[in-house]
Amino acid sequence: MTPPRNSNAARDIANLLHPYTDARAHAQNGPLVITRGEGVRVFDDQGNSYIETVAGLWCASLGFDNARLVEAATKQMKQLPFYHAFTGRSHEPAIDLAEMLIERAPVPMSKVFFCNSGSEANDTAVKMIWYFNNAIGRPEKKKIIGRLKGYHGITIAAGSVTGLPVNHKLFDLPIAGVLHTTTPHYYREGRPGETEEQFATRCATELDELIIAEGPETVAAFFAEPVMGAGGVLVPPATYYEKIQAVLKKHDVLFVADEVICGFGRTGEYWGCQSMGIQPDILTCAKALSASFLPISAVLINDRIFQGLADGSASIGSFGHGFTYSGHPVPAAVAVETLKIYDEMEIVAHVKKVAPVLQDGLRSRFANHPLVGEVRGIGLIGAVELVADKATKKAFDPAQKIGPRLTKIAEANGLIMRALPGDGIAFSPPLIITAEEIVDMLDRFSKSLDELAVQLRRESIA
Ligand code: PMP
Repeated sequence: MTPPRNSNAARDIANLLHPYTDARAHAQNGPLVITRGEGVRVFDDQGNSYIETVAGLWCASLGFDNARLVEAATKQMKQLPFYHAFTGRSHEPAIDLAEMLIERAPVPMSKVFFCNSGSEANDTAVKMIWYFNNAIGRPEKKKIIGRLKGYHGITIAAGSVTGLPVNHKLFDLPIAGVLHTTTPHYYREGRPGETEEQFATRCATELDELIIAEGPETVAAFFAEPVMGAGGVLVPPATYYEKIQAVLKKHDVLFVADEVICGFGRTGEYWGCQSMGIQPDILTCAKALSASFLPISAVLINDRIFQGLADGSASIGSFGHGFTYSGHPVPAAVAVETLKIYDEMEIVAHVKKVAPVLQDGLRSRFANHPLVGEVRGIGLIGAVELVADKATKKAFDPAQKIGPRLTKIAEANGLIMRALPGDGIAFSPPLIITAEEIVDMLDRFSKSLDELAVQLRRESIA
């Protein structure tokens, strides 16, 4: 159906190129135009309401309206709408936010560097590591190891550390010097007869072997999301990080924790690092840092890295890196207010209280469903993986686009959902979600899944 000429849909199709969107299909299907939000819900331009089951892009932690954040932005815009942080310039919102992040860090951290997005934060971490190793006189130690299915963004370095084919193949990535190791997903990667513990050991051994094969003197850092998000919501097995960190320590390889999704309560602790027992050297965060009301991200570095960077100015030349909007005062002021709200509402206690409704609900309601191969998650992040054959774990043919098909059905049932590669359906609702809203979300999902099952049976697909 052709949308009316001056409608949002027609103007969107005429003018907008969307991220991660098949442009030809979009010209046929048109956009879903969201006009406003309220709590965990958003509303489209036809007046339909949806529970945002993924908080937008895993990010709208405080939901889609918050008067205090609007007020914080307005106040800062009136006071000082822009200033920068180059060459020693500063302003209070950046100073306040840096101090608050250092106070809240999961391990002792020394300094905070601000960027605008998760990708920029991870690119910055890569460049800091390269500069650091140049500064301390080991210029050959530069390689970065990510994990297959990891997601760290889409800029050239972060996109290289990402381990998803869709971000690599057609963009001539990864760049040289970026390597990938095993995905810690027991359901898919565990071998017959291997226990979870043995699998965790093998993941660490394979990392060790990779570092040794490359030469430990050439490997600088390992990047990991404490719980992988876009790659499928993959929670690693117990003992995995303990074993991985022992390998990294042995070879003096830095640990960069990408907390872009996990940070600020998502996993049931303030940081994913705390849920997973990770002691990072560098930590990147974004998204929930400002509840996504405005773009801002941060790189936290420990004192060893800071001292190396600081000495570098005199020994090799200044750290020539920074964005016009590094620490922009308006998003920084919003982030300061966001962190205060988290403190006041006791975000971690809230997540701990409602998370069992999500986790137990997902498992008790869907683990036995014929279309569901695995249910996984922790805190307020989870996924169900759809399979063509439950017994053999056989996946659906990606060409059938079963995950996206389910999200379309869910849309008609009042849910905005996200299908991940491998037909994982993600749950990562705003952190303010209540137990009742979780039950409502799962009821609507259950109905959608059953509708999909009926359709697939009718088509003899499953
Ligand atoms: N790291 C992780 C773990 C992410 O999930 C994302 C985005 N989904 C990024 C980095 C990239 O963030 P951005 O899209 O803000 O560049």
